[in-house]
Amino acid sequence: SKAKVFDKESDIKTNFKDVAGLAEAKQEVEEIVEFLKYPEKYTQLGGKIPKGALLVGPPGTGKTLLAKAVAGEAHVPFFSMSGSDFVEMFVGVGASRVRDLFKQAKEKSPCIIFIDEIDAIGRARGKNPNMGANDERENTLNQLLTEMDGFDTNSGVIILAATNRADILDRALMRAGRFDRQIHVELPDLNEREEIFNVHLRPLKLDDSVKSEFLAKQTPGFSGADIANVCNESALIAARKKKNVIEKQDFLDAVDRIIGGLEKKNKIISVNE
Ligand code: ATP
Repeated sequence: SKAKVFDKESDIKTNFKDVAGLAEAKQEVEEIVEFLKYPEKYTQLGGKIPKGALLVGPPGTGKTLLAKAVAGEAHVPFFSMSGSDFVEMFVGVGASRVRDLFKQAKEKSPCIIFIDEIDAIGRARGKNPNMGANDERENTLNQLLTEMDGFDTNSGVIILAATNRADILDRALMRAGRFDRQIHVELPDLNEREEIFNVHLRPLKLDDSVKSEFLAKQTPGFSGADIANVCNESALIAARKKKNVIEKQDFLDAVDRIIGGLEKKNKIISVNE
C-alpha cells in the first residue's frame, strides 16, 4: 500500500444520527454542512466561507466519525489522510502527497478533506532535536500551509483536521484563513454514554436484562470508541458461550476486559514518560 496517497470515499453513509452526544460540536459542524450545500446563501453578501476547522479532543471521542458525518450529511466526497503516515518519509514525498490530495479534492469540490493526527505534521517548527526527519515534516507542513493559502475560500473544499494536542501545534496553522475555528470534542458524560450505548446496541441481539442506562453507569471515563468496543466484545463473549442473546453479565465481563486493556495501556504510557 506504499503507493496509496490518501483515501477517497464518495458515498458516505455516516450521518449525524450515528454520532451520539457531542451536541455542541454537532451544532458547530452543522454550519459547515450548510456551507457545502448552499454556498451562495453565504457568499452573496460578500462573506467568505471558512476554509477549515480543527476538531480537538481525546482519542476515540468521535472526531473522525463527526468529520465523516459532515460529508455524509452534505452528500459530498470525503478525502482523508493521517498525519502519522508522514512520519519517516523520504524527502519530498510528504509535500507531494499533500499537493496531490489538494489537487484531487479541488477537482471533486464541493468536498471535505480530513487530516487525522495533524499534530504529527503540524507540531511547532524547529523544536525537534531529531533533525533529519524534522526537515521533511516541516516541508510537509509548509506545503499544507501553502495549499491552504492557495485556494479560494469559496472553492467548496473544507478542511477538517483532528488532534488531541492542540497545544503543540504550530501557531501558523491557526492563523485566520487556515484552521481558525476550533471545535471541542470531549469525553462523554453519563447521559452521553447512554446515548452512545443506544447507538451501538442497536444492531445487537439483546436479552431484556440489558439496559443502556445501567451500562452508562458502569463505564465512567470511557470514550465512544471504548463503548463501541464493549458492545462488540460482549457479543463475542456471548457467542463463545453459545447464547442466542447477549445478557447483562456478558456486558459486565466485556467492561472488565476493556478496563483491563486500558490499565495496561496506561501502564505502558507511564513507563515511557
Ligand atoms: P482518534 O483520535 O483515536 O482518531 P477519534 O476521536 O477520531 O479518535 P473515532 O475514530 O471517530 O474517534 O471513534 C472511533 C469509533 O468509536 C467510532 O467509529 C464509533 O464507532 C465510536 N464512537 C466514538 N465516539 C462516538 C460517538 N460520539 N457516538 C457514537 N459512536 C462513537
